[in-house]
Amino acid sequence: MSDFTALVLHEADGKVEPRIEQVNETALPPGDVTVAVEYSTLNYKDGLILNGLGRLVRKYPHVGGIDFAGTVERSDSPDFRPGDTVVLTGWRVGEVQWGGFAQKARVKASMLVKLPGGLTSKHAMAIGTAGFTAMLAVMQLERRGLTPGAGEVLVTGAAGGVGGVATAVLARLGHTVVASTGRAAMHDYLRGLGASAIIDRAELAKAPQRPLDSERWAGAVDAVGGTTLATILTQMAYRGSVAACGLAGGAELATTVVPFLLRGVNLLGIDSVMCPMPERQEAWQRLVRDLPMDRLDAMTETAPLRALPELGGRILKGETRGRVVIDVN
Ligand code: NDP
Repeated sequence: MSDFTALVLHEADGKVEPRIEQVNETALPPGDVTVAVEYSTLNYKDGLILNGLGRLVRKYPHVGGIDFAGTVERSDSPDFRPGDTVVLTGWRVGEVQWGGFAQKARVKASMLVKLPGGLTSKHAMAIGTAGFTAMLAVMQLERRGLTPGAGEVLVTGAAGGVGGVATAVLARLGHTVVASTGRAAMHDYLRGLGASAIIDRAELAKAPQRPLDSERWAGAVDAVGGTTLATILTQMAYRGSVAACGLAGGAELATTVVPFLLRGVNLLGIDSVMCPMPERQEAWQRLVRDLPMDRLDAMTETAPLRALPELGGRILKGETRGRVVIDVN
């Protein structure tokens, strides 16, 4: 049983302290597949965990990282063999059990997806939970009838991870994407990802003054929640759908039932964590098909394990752009 490097979170006096340490494989959680991790990534939830917020982790010392991709080293499952390349997102790995901010991880085989053809472990982590969630949102909007040409599709929190991948995928599929951002410096970047127009997030952030506003959006991917989501609901076109993905701007939702009753608006909940396996596999296949890799590269930076404590603070303040891949080696 060999040692490997991990970013270990320790708790003292109610505060979480991250340290790069050598850990022995015997400390890994139970599971039938051991993976040599190549890359992990930074998501909003990782920011919470790195800062000891949200009561997501109950037991320390802890290794965070809600996503990882790498190569199977050992497997007691007939579904995986040493050498297979795999990706893990969600299932509360990195929260209730050790996750991907380490050179090794061990999980149940039922949690892993084989990397679809052509996708590298680095690109899989450039996508990560954020990009996977964006794809689930697009798939749900399509199931509710959204087609290219139907009208403008709004993406909020567009300069973030979920928003960046949603923008790039929707644009590739032929939708007219309007990206909402609070950062003026991100306008060119968002146009580069395929946005046709940009709106300032302040326009959506004020609480709605009436139950219905002018119809504007054929569909929406919302990473922000709060008053932004309440406002979007009042502006949806007849039978339009909003995929609610996130709460970067707030968890509350003060709205009326009027958009649902008079316009047949759909509010679609998106959960990536416990998403069933067939839909996971479909989403990864769709990402390979519908996410242009040059645009994914344009939204991705790479950082080492030791950069995570600082990055964890920045993502919570909405200061990171697109996606951050973590090179654990
Ligand atoms: P990021 O931090 O990368 O992106 C969030 C973006 O939201 C920011 O870049 C910023 O965009 C905008 N934003 C930040 N703070 C505020 C604010 N106070 N008011 C309005 N907008 C704000 O995070 P992710 O993309 O990784 O995650 C986005 C959200 O989705 C999070 O709430 C996360 O928890 C959730 N999520 C949910 C999942 C699920 O399964 N449902 C899975 C993954 C994420 P800009 O600068 O462009 O305005």
